[in-house]
Amino acid sequence: MTFVTRFAPSPTGPLHLGHAYSALLAHDMARKAGGQFRLRIDDLDQSRSRPEWESQILDDLSWLGITWNGPVRRQSDHFDDYRQALENLAAKGAVYPCRCKRRDIEAAVSAPQEGVRQYGPDGLIYPGTCRHRPYADRQPGDALRLNLDKACGRQMPAFDETGPAHAGRHEVTAEFLKTRVGDPVLARPGMAASYHFAVVLDDASTGVTHVIRGEDLFEASYIQRFLQWELGLPSVQYHHHRLIRDDAGKRLAKRDDARAIAKYRADGATPQDIRQMVGL
Ligand code: GLU
Repeated sequence: MTFVTRFAPSPTGPLHLGHAYSALLAHDMARKAGGQFRLRIDDLDQSRSRPEWESQILDDLSWLGITWNGPVRRQSDHFDDYRQALENLAAKGAVYPCRCKRRDIEAAVSAPQEGVRQYGPDGLIYPGTCRHRPYADRQPGDALRLNLDKACGRQMPAFDETGPAHAGRHEVTAEFLKTRVGDPVLARPGMAASYHFAVVLDDASTGVTHVIRGEDLFEASYIQRFLQWELGLPSVQYHHHRLIRDDAGKRLAKRDDARAIAKYRADGATPQDIRQMVGL
């Protein structure tokens, strides 16, 4: 079986132990399967991405003993591809411009008749305020959303998961998308694509067959599988792994510089020490 996976860090801070675990696990799984491990730099958000972080990421990964197949891919080199894919989807009539700011959505979903405010894997569940707006009326500063009512057909896709917490086959239902996500954002204001839209296109165009990443992104797979299906792209197999937590049990975040790989390196740790610390 073909096995192509990837590690896709955002160059917005240092790699920490959680990233090291994710990268090493995906790398080891690819090598064991005789497959490919690719490296992608998720620099979609140009306001937060820095070349210095990218250099440090590459350096830390090499130090860990990780090698990747093919060139490093950067999302910022593919903005035109995302725009083109969005145009193609819009031509099918299911994309609309949305001018709602976060506070508008909060106000709409916390209005008394709508009940309590709700969050899904993509944040606040969008109530569809701008759905009536035609794509042709989009303005600079608008986000672009997919109208689920137009996109959800009678037949819906599913995906396979092999990670420890959710192993099995998962149906992507219209019900889940409508009640837990709302119309997905395809592009944020001033950006070529949203995170979900970009990764789905990136994975497909680099032939990724297996997505291996942290459990915090498990629910995002419902949105991403749906977008793949909507775009007619091949499905991938998912493996969401456990998260590396700090001593208080909180998952590590970019700001946890104390657990940055660079810090451990400076303190004299070896790559083998890092493997041991993350339980590999
Ligand atoms: N770039 C994303 C992150 O740093 C990961 C994307 C993915 O694995 O789908 O969280």
